[in-house]
Amino acid sequence: MIRENLKCVEEQMQLALQKAEYKLPEPLQLIAVTKNHPVEMMEEAIEAGVTVVGENRVQEAQQKYAVIGDKVKWHLIGHLQRNKVKPAVEMFELIHSVDSLRLAEEISKVAQSKNKIQRILIQVNLVQEASKFGISIEALPDLLRAIDKLPNILMQGLMFVAPDYEDKEEVRPLFKDMYKLYKEMELLDLKNKDWKYLSMGMTQDFPIAIEEGSNLIRVGTGIFGARNY
Ligand SMILES: *Cc1c(COP(=O)(O)O)cnc(C)c1O
Repeated sequence: MIRENLKCVEEQMQLALQKAEYKLPEPLQLIAVTKNHPVEMMEEAIEAGVTVVGENRVQEAQQKYAVIGDKVKWHLIGHLQRNKVKPAVEMFELIHSVDSLRLAEEISKVAQSKNKIQRILIQVNLVQEASKFGISIEALPDLLRAIDKLPNILMQGLMFVAPDYEDKEEVRPLFKDMYKLYKEMELLDLKNKDWKYLSMGMTQDFPIAIEEGSNLIRVGTGIFGARNY
C-alpha cells in the first residue's frame, strides 16, 4: 500500500509542478512524515524510494533513529523545546521549526560543541489564531538579523503550516503570501543565510502549495494512511 500511495503522491507532485506559476531553483523534494508510524512502515517506505523522513517529536525520532540510522535523512518538522536541542542537533539535518532567538541560540551553542553547522528553517505564523507556533511577519526580518549573529547556524528558508480549512482553496492566498515573504527575505544581506527551501504543503494541500512555489512538501497521511493517536 505504501508503495502505491507514494507513486500516487509523486504523480500529483509532477502534475502540480507542471501547473506551478513560480518555481524555486532547488528541486521539489518530498518529506515522508512518519510520526506515529512504526519503524516497519518506515523501512517499507525507504525501500519504496523515500529518502527524507519528517518527525514531530525528538524522543520518538530518537527511538526510530536507533533502529534505522542514516539510511534516510531526518528532518524535524514539529515544535522544538530547548531541553531537546541536544539530541535534535545530533540527528536532524534540517530543523524546520525555529521560531525564536532563544531557541536558535541554544541550537547554535549545541551545534558549536559538536562542530556542526545546523541548517534550519524559520517557521512563520501567518494566521495568528490558527497556530501558537511560528514568528509573525512583522517580527521576521529582525529575527533573521539576530540569528545571523550566531556562529553555527545556517538559515535556509521558511516553513509554514496552513490552517485546516474545509475548502482547500482557501489556503492558496496564504501560500502566495509565503512565497512573496520568502522572496523578500531572500533580499536581506546576511552571512549565515543560504536561501533554498520553502517548506509548505501537507497531504490535504500539497498540490496547491507546489503550484504556489513550495519546494519542500511534508506528506504523512497520503503515504501511510491515517494515524492512530
Ligand atoms: C503531521 C504533520 C505533517 C503531515 O500531515 P499529513 O496531513 O499527515 O500529511 C506535515 N507537517 C507538520 C508540521 C506536521 O505536524
